[in-house]
Amino acid sequence: MPSKQPEYRRYLVPIDTSSTQQLFCDCLVIGAGIAGLRAAIEAAETNNVMLVTKAALADSNTWNAQGGIASVLGEEDSIEEHVADTLQTGCGLCDEDTVRRVVSNGPELVRQLLDWGADFDMINGRIDITREGGHSKARIAHAHGDSTGRGIAEALVRKVREKHNINIIERFFAIELITSKDKQCLGIIGYRAGSGFQIVWAANTILATGGAGRLYRETTNPAVATADGLGMAYRAGAVLRDMEFMQFHPTTLYVAGASRALITETLRGEGAYLLDNKGRRFMPEYHEAAELAPRDIVSRAILDRMLSTKSTHVYLDVRHFDKNHFAKRFPLISELCESFDIDVSVDLIPVRPSAHYMIGGVKTDFEARTNIANLYACGEVASTGLHGANRLGSNSLLEGLVFGRIAGRQAAQNRRDGANGMAYHHMKYQIPVSDRSHLDTDDVRNSLRALMWRNVGITRKGRHLEEAEDIIRFWQRYVMDKVFDCSRGWECQNMLTVASLMTRAARIRTESRGVHYRQDYPKRNDAKFAHHFEQSDTE
Ligand SMILES: Cc1cc2nc3c(=O)[nH]c(=O)nc-3n(C[C@H](O)[C@H](O)[C@H](O)COP(=O)(O)OP(=O)(O)OC[C@H]3O[C@@H](n4cnc5c(N)ncnc54)[C@H](O)[C@@H]3O)c2cc1C
Repeated sequence: MPSKQPEYRRYLVPIDTSSTQQLFCDCLVIGAGIAGLRAAIEAAETNNVMLVTKAALADSNTWNAQGGIASVLGEEDSIEEHVADTLQTGCGLCDEDTVRRVVSNGPELVRQLLDWGADFDMINGRIDITREGGHSKARIAHAHGDSTGRGIAEALVRKVREKHNINIIERFFAIELITSKDKQCLGIIGYRAGSGFQIVWAANTILATGGAGRLYRETTNPAVATADGLGMAYRAGAVLRDMEFMQFHPTTLYVAGASRALITETLRGEGAYLLDNKGRRFMPEYHEAAELAPRDIVSRAILDRMLSTKSTHVYLDVRHFDKNHFAKRFPLISELCESFDIDVSVDLIPVRPSAHYMIGGVKTDFEARTNIANLYACGEVASTGLHGANRLGSNSLLEGLVFGRIAGRQAAQNRRDGANGMAYHHMKYQIPVSDRSHLDTDDVRNSLRALMWRNVGITRKGRHLEEAEDIIRFWQRYVMDKVFDCSRGWECQNMLTVASLMTRAARIRTESRGVHYRQDYPKRNDAKFAHHFEQSDTE
């Protein structure tokens, strides 16, 4: 599905090799979440690796992940059951071979993390596993109760630091992938704090830039999740797939002024109830699994109840939990609630849904390859076919781990095969000076996030999607032709690009499937829509 955007320009910034500092590496990894870190470790077996991240190492979705990582670790469990649960949740759009590959690589890679020092919670010398909504067996490994992402990331960072041939560069903003005329990725142009614009020429580039949650006003994602990788891959000619599928998390803390901190669904897994503003438990009215229903169903039920009770939120009730156990099992949430004077043994926790996980992304094959030579993608930025139309909780850390290793291995192999090499390329890309009248990009970003929440949110309608497309197109007309010299501007341009792709895909899919719910087409339509939507700029 070609989707050339208005105000299209191949590169957001001018490129001039005669006046820009240049660096060289075998393998460039963009992003330091679970996918990028794991990829870097693997590629470093034989390659010189440069690992860049736009903020500090701790600024990633990975670092914030709470509940855990899914993997078949229990004797009662089996690969086939984990595969079946993933396929069931994916609503007909998973790629079964990919699901089987990810699931069967899980146990080895999670145990390897333990060997590398990830401090998973243990019981009788084995990794302690719990159960979560959508999983038929206990298979969620967690660290420090609800600090799993941090526990994993710290272990991976330690491992990365042990490797003398990985050069970590923080506060390096990747702006564009540089490609040749015959569609090979040659590296990137980026902006490094303290040094300015730099070009990195790389034999292979691995995109691991994470998700797009910041496109929404309400989100669990940290500030870095502005869809940069999706935007730059699209401009480079990569195929993007399933962009209509944004997963919303049902329960984030709703206290005015607080960021939307996630309240893990493990709480519901362990017996928390959802109550409306009249104190009534409502989930049994919506699904037989009540609070353990899939995320999309719980999110819509909460929204429906908020509308019918004219309330801005609902409540999680954990008053029946043992207070000491709660504090030990969920230390982050305990601390968070305490900081807002919420005593969980007495008070209800106010919650509402938020944008959480980008299912769609850069289309990759079984070996993490994109359609651009020498460009690989892994983690949340990629669309591997694992999740289909809905992500099973705790499968995304697993995907980043498995496909991070695959991407790193493939990139290293490609380099060894001598299929390509890093080289200096002379390049001059000029951009006519645009109207530099003052533009408040923060205002555009905030307006975009509000629009996406209102019109491209948990429930969607054709009319609202068309309206959003028109408004985004209008904003693009005067934002995309500007040349910015700061990350806020480049992020704003990426957000607009990706928002328009998401909105377009959501308008075209006139059915409801997985996390994509159309009020005007509430039924799943397999006859017409049992397939993926792909978008690229190649017309
Ligand atoms: C609050 C929260 C809780 C979650 N809980 C769970 C859970 O319990 N289990 C689970 O499986 N999943 C969970 N998820 C989802 C999971 O954390 C993510 O899907 C996963 O961590 C993504 O990993 P990643 O490596 O692809 O991306 P990330 O971890 O997001 O890393 C992306 C990296 O790219 C960098 N980057 C981005 N743009 C640029 C740029 N332009 N230039 C340079 N660097 C850039 C970022 O700074 C960051 O380092 C949760 C997510 C959130 C937000």
